[in-house]
Amino acid sequence: MVDSPFLPSLSARPLLLTDSQTHRKRVFEPLDPEHVRVYYCGPTVYDAAHIGNLRAMLSADVLVRLLRALYPRVTFARNITDVDDRIADRARANGEEIAALTARTTADFHADVAELNILPPDIEPRATHHIGEMLAMIGRLIANGHAYEAEGHVLFSVRDFASYGALSGRSLDDMLAGARVEIAPYKRDPGDFVLWKPSSDDQPGWDSPYGRGRPGWHIECSAMSHRYLGESFDIHGGGDDLLFPHHENERAQSLCCFPGSQFARYWLHNAMLLSDGEKMSKSLGNFYTIRQVITRAPAQALRLLYLGAHYRSVLDFTWDKLEDAKKTLDRFYRAFEKSPPADGAPVPEAVLAALCDDLNTPLALAALHPLADAAMQGDAAAAAALKAGGTLLGLFHQTADEWFRAGADEAAIERLIAARLDARRTRDFARADEIRAALAAQGILLEDGPHGTSWRRA
Ligand SMILES: [Zn+2]
Repeated sequence: MVDSPFLPSLSARPLLLTDSQTHRKRVFEPLDPEHVRVYYCGPTVYDAAHIGNLRAMLSADVLVRLLRALYPRVTFARNITDVDDRIADRARANGEEIAALTARTTADFHADVAELNILPPDIEPRATHHIGEMLAMIGRLIANGHAYEAEGHVLFSVRDFASYGALSGRSLDDMLAGARVEIAPYKRDPGDFVLWKPSSDDQPGWDSPYGRGRPGWHIECSAMSHRYLGESFDIHGGGDDLLFPHHENERAQSLCCFPGSQFARYWLHNAMLLSDGEKMSKSLGNFYTIRQVITRAPAQALRLLYLGAHYRSVLDFTWDKLEDAKKTLDRFYRAFEKSPPADGAPVPEAVLAALCDDLNTPLALAALHPLADAAMQGDAAAAAALKAGGTLLGLFHQTADEWFRAGADEAAIERLIAARLDARRTRDFARADEIRAALAAQGILLEDGPHGTSWRRA
């Protein structure tokens, strides 16, 4: 299946994006309209991804699907952070090899996002495969006076970069007052951040001119985005919790390493996720992994719930909202049953206009409802338009049949249907009715037709 292919008729349409650096909506003008390049920070693979992590993944997916419709070629890179002290700590606690932990967690992450119909990135670089690129950048930063070596560490010198703080919009003194910096005796300035740090024998490490050590987190993304997207590329995104220090530091490293480059030309940040009205935390009992949610409800309903909020607005996850999203999808799929949609219809103008205005997914979804109403009345063109609009949003990747059967124990239902058929053959209608009622109580409806009995979720 080809999702949201390039539609040349759309390529002249302006796309507006809110750029975090300028705090305003800007018309997106790619460096090379023949090849748009996007980078998002990916997961640190030490634990199951939670529904807060999902927000950036889904925001990126909406952006990339739209870009693919507007431009002939898009390269989307999203990294895997597979070296981090949390990974080493977790592996030790589990009594597990680091490589086994990161491989397992990465595979689980891929399975989770695939169920949400999030397209895989074109390039998914792993930090541990790019230590050489990181050391090359660190060497350049030392050579041009933006970094220095101290006690086995290499540090970036924030006072030597005039526009440090320009992305997150704060002065160096504000940042230091925020006390999100680690004070250490070997730093020239408390705001200086680590590019490389020494590893003890029991910590993962690589040989370097500064001794055996491991990279700081920020340099990973600078090195990998440079390797795959070049010195200057179009869009860099992530959750707004990454704005400072992570993105501020990525920007500082890259601009200082490659003077005259622009690094990312547009910065997109999605707002955070709340759960039951509060910041998610294990102690509050409102913390959910993606897997926990999609074993209780269809993954597509979770996707729809997320699309219902603009990426720059805080989204509050609740089970009630998830149930509402499921009911909305039931309705869309009933419309498809009423009017089976043809493939290949143009994306409705209202959906495109909404998405091209800073990825306004709530408005795009609102445009689908009148189409569903019309499809329910048998309007085949409306059904095809509904399918096209939803597909651009990454919805409707299941057929109506798959949607209405999802989550049910198919084998058990088939066994009961066979038992009911036997009961009818022996004219034991009381038993047949009993089986039908038992299935109905589980939300499974039977339909007897000329070709036998079929079933669906109520
Ligand atoms: Zn990053």
